[in-house]
Amino acid sequence: MRILLTGAAGFLGSHLTRKLLDNGHSVIGLDDLSTGNLGNLEFASSNSDFTFVEHDIREPFFTPVDGILNFACPASPKHYQSDPVRTIETNFLGIINMLHLAKQTGARLLQASTSEVYGDPIESPQRESYWGNVNPIGIRSCYDEGKRAAETLCFDYKRQYGLDTRVNRIFNTYGPNMSQDDGRVVSNFIVQALQNKPITIYGDGLQTRSFCYVSDLVDAIYLTFMYPNPLSYPINIGNPREFTMLQLAEEVIGISNSKSILKFEDLPEDDPKQRCPDISQARELLGWEPKVFLREGIEKTTQYFSNNLNR
Ligand code: UDP
Repeated sequence: MRILLTGAAGFLGSHLTRKLLDNGHSVIGLDDLSTGNLGNLEFASSNSDFTFVEHDIREPFFTPVDGILNFACPASPKHYQSDPVRTIETNFLGIINMLHLAKQTGARLLQASTSEVYGDPIESPQRESYWGNVNPIGIRSCYDEGKRAAETLCFDYKRQYGLDTRVNRIFNTYGPNMSQDDGRVVSNFIVQALQNKPITIYGDGLQTRSFCYVSDLVDAIYLTFMYPNPLSYPINIGNPREFTMLQLAEEVIGISNSKSILKFEDLPEDDPKQRCPDISQARELLGWEPKVFLREGIEKTTQYFSNNLNR
């Protein structure tokens, strides 16, 4: 297939580029390089099946394609909150531009949605049928509501124009190619531990997240995209093993043999207290489940950061 991948130079985008090329597809990678890094795509630079285009998906884009994967948007709270208007525009205008392209070309489209559509959930684990608990005017809403609106548009275009749109709700993911200043918890803790600097725990550290290693996640995205029949509901993907931030810190300190101490800081506004995916649908439909345990994934990611720190 000839596939357009937006956000190709980002953390997930770069891993997806590799997965698509390895499976024999040709890839047009779009990125505005606002948070993406061309270094992540170095491996594909001499591949004749790969083309990179610097483009902001808030503007329309046309090229004949069979498939579209829409992954352009900063996903770290630190980055998406630094220019919230741009974040919601990227989500809202971006998906409209990609849906127009899908309508023009007949391409299948997969939208990268997020566990953030569940907000600060009052149900756990979160099933796809749960409507969520989102503050519509808070500092996270540029991302949460942007992604929710993008889901709405995908399902409206499906119902109204018969497009083949698919939605993955992606839970916390980590691995190589995250940037050192990403600001999310796994990269922060590993970088701090490697530098023997204090590990910054926001709040009491008892809030939970479920961390999926990137290779598992990319497998699930690919299976969703290649699923032979149209899908009329979103699919959660993530690792259902749930950890507190204190447990994560302990694991990271142990693996890197660090002298770091814990430093408690204020909990950011609207920070969800828990997050854990119900992945029954992904298991049943895609025959997928994560394989990489936290320890193994953190070891690989620590190795990556220790090779790349300050480069
Ligand atoms: N967090 C933390 N220390 C950090 C960065 C994040 O304790 O240096 C916490 C954050 O408050 C949240 C959790 O870790 O409760 C996950 O945050 P992250 O930004 O990785 O992603 P989120 O799941 O909130 O989108």
